[in-house]
Parts: sequence; C-alpha cells; structure tokens
Amino acid sequence: MHAAPETKPRVLVVDDVPANCRILLESLKTDYHVDIATSGEQALETVIVNQPDLILLDIMMPEMDGYEVCSRLKQDTSLQDIPVIFLTAKNDKDDEVKGFEWGVVDYIAKPFYIPIIKARIKTHLKQKKKHDLLTKLASIDPLTGIPNRRHFTNVFDTEWRRAKRGKTAISLMLVDVDYFKQYNDTYGHSAGDDCLKQIAQGLLHSLKRPGDCAARIGGEEFAILLPETDALGAVTLADRIRIDIEKLGIAHEHSKTVGHVTVSAGVATTTPSVEMDRKALLNAADEMLYQAKERGRNQVLGRVL
Ligand code: GH3
Ligand code: MG
Ligand code: MG
Repeated sequence: MHAAPETKPRVLVVDDVPANCRILLESLKTDYHVDIATSGEQALETVIVNQPDLILLDIMMPEMDGYEVCSRLKQDTSLQDIPVIFLTAKNDKDDEVKGFEWGVVDYIAKPFYIPIIKARIKTHLKQKKKHDLLTKLASIDPLTGIPNRRHFTNVFDTEWRRAKRGKTAISLMLVDVDYFKQYNDTYGHSAGDDCLKQIAQGLLHSLKRPGDCAARIGGEEFAILLPETDALGAVTLADRIRIDIEKLGIAHEHSKTVGHVTVSAGVATTTPSVEMDRKALLNAADEMLYQAKERGRNQVLGRVL
C-alpha cells in the first residue's frame, strides 16, 4: 500500500524577469507546487485556473504592474483572500506602505535571501489555513451541513458578475417547505429538524452540475443557484427536486397537499444586462414562490426576466 501523496500548497510566482522566476522555482519546488507567470495578465489567468494558496508578486512589470494585479484580485470575492507577498527591487518605505494599503500580507525586497522568503511563505500559509477553516465554518449551516445564506450571497455575487461578463443565462430557485409549521406542531421541533436535514440531502442529491449551489437561506427555505442554466432547464430541475422530495415520503398527516412533506418552488431566469441588480432575480423568484403557494402549493412556477 502506498501512502496517499500529500498535496503540496500551490504558490504562484509572478515576475517579468525569467531569471528571478527560475531562482524562486528552484528554491521552492521541493516544498510547493510552483506556477510561474511572467506578466500581470498571465498572473490573473493562472490565478483563476490554478487557485494558488499564495502569490509572490513583482511590482515593477511592463503593461500591468503588481499594484494593478493586486487591485484586480481584491475585486473578486473568490480571489481576494489569497495572500499576496510583494517582491520588489523598490525599497522605498512609501512603496512598502502602499503595498500594505493594497491589502498585501507582506513585502520582500530584492535581492532575495531565500531562507527568509521560505520562512515568510510558511507563516502566511499557516495563517491562510486558519483563515480558510474559519471561512468554511462561517459558511456552513450547522443543522443541515449545507452552505448557509452568507455563503450563498457570496456565490450569487460572483456568479452574477460572471454571467454579466459572459452574457450567459443564470437561474435562481427558491424552495420552501409546505405547511411546515403544522409539521412541527404535529411531530415536534426535533422531528422538524430531521425533516430539514433530509430535504437538504435530497437537494444535494438532485443537483448534478458542479457549479450548482444549494443553500439553506432561512428556517425552512432553501435557495439553489444555477449558473449557465436557461428557464426550461431550471424549471425542469425544480420540478424534479419537488418530485424527489415528495418521494422521500416523509409522513405529514396534517399537510393539506398530500399525506407527506412537499415543497413549493419559485424559479427566475435571466441573462443579466450590465445595469441589472441581482436583487431583481431574487425578487422575481420570491414572487414566483409566493404564487406557487397561492395556487395550492406542491408546485413549481417560473418566470424569465
Ligand atoms: P407555507 O406552506 O405557506 O410555507 O406554510 P409554513 O407553515 O411552511 O410556513 P410558515 O412561514 O408559516 O412557518 C414556517 C415554520 O417553519 C415556522 C417554524 O415552525 C418552522 N421552522 C423554521 N425554522 C425551523 C427550524 O430550524 N427547525 C424546525 N424544526 N422548524 C423550523
Ligand atoms: Mg413553508
Ligand atoms: Mg417560509
């Protein structure tokens, strides 16, 4: 039996001088998986594809300099927490201050002294690990173990901007348990909690695409974000989810729909225009959910914006 290979942290080195990249690559490659970029543009592409754990970033580069790369990273919620260490020939104190104002975690002046670079990388990766654990805990709903509202809002924000850039369709589904107050009143709060857990697992089970995100956004309300999904796809999926939950067969003798737990869903789809706010999609899905309830529950309604 082989031991599972330990995954090395990923470090991205960005420097327009290939010799600098080479030195860093040689020094770091035993401990880290090192990616190299020799321009700001290339750095941003690599960051998106490889999601490094830490970035060593040269400031002075032609075209897009380190400050610009840093500011682009900070604008993206999925990239802004990657620690950035500025590497630079500049050792003017004001530049150093400017670096920290941009949100970099550290600043290393050239020429490099490799043991110091290694020690600093180690420290910042340790911090990052703690930070990631806290972020993960802060984004999970403790009852069901699926993402919470806070996480959902972040994903929605990122995907909404991606849909705008790529001019692609995005759908949002809101799912609410029918007559759930009655369920709690009949079977008790603890049984209610178990029911929510089963529904959350059911939702995960129904989702097939890796980009889909299901979250518990309220007491007995769930949201599912479907990037690159048109209205037909979203409504079809919503109805499959509705049926899958019915099939769980969780007894609910006082439900006015059928004898077991059911859900209603509201779906909204759009290809967002530049000026459109993501709240419009949320409001539309909410309105559809309200109407699905009004029309008798245990059903799905959708609308295109
Ligand atoms: P509708 O069909 O219109 O959605 O009716 P409803 O009874 O499901 O909706 P309402 O909003 O009136 O009540 C929601 C109930 O969900 C209230 C509360 O008893 C229950 N609930 C909310 N959060 C939790 C939770 O975390 N655990 C449990 N067990 N019950 C919860
Ligand atoms: Mg309800
Ligand atoms: Mg509700």
